[in-house]
Amino acid sequence: MSYDTENIFAKILRGEIPCNKHDECEYTLAFHDIAPQAQTHILVIPKGHYVDMADFSQNASAEEQSAFIAAIGRAARLAGLEDGGYRIIANSGENAHQEVPHLHMHILGGEPIGPLRAR
Ligand code: 5GP
Repeated sequence: MSYDTENIFAKILRGEIPCNKHDECEYTLAFHDIAPQAQTHILVIPKGHYVDMADFSQNASAEEQSAFIAAIGRAARLAGLEDGGYRIIANSGENAHQEVPHLHMHILGGEPIGPLRAR
């Protein structure tokens, strides 16, 4: 899938729509989800144009990839989630119901998150 520069996270990165920023570095941006699914729900995105994890893992530089992993851990730490624990999820593609076609990692915490899958 080619990258859609009009997706909502691309607009946030360009400053065309606002976000509740949590953390930022040269390669990443973390902000609060507009429709939180837990007491704390943060999204971490790379600033580069990557559709999903398949795209990112094959095409992002080593610096971008390591910065993304570091940003996820840092965002959880800054949000005070380390003691209680948290879940990270990246929906990738159709089967995972990825809605926004710009790679993003969900960080969910601040309360018990429940089982990995509701059955
Ligand atoms: P996905 O289903 O693609 O893994 O998750 C997309 C997430 O983006 C959803 O949790 C949704 O609430 C969030 N989202 C969609 N539009 C916006 C927006 O404009 N601002 C913010 N902060 N989050 C958004």
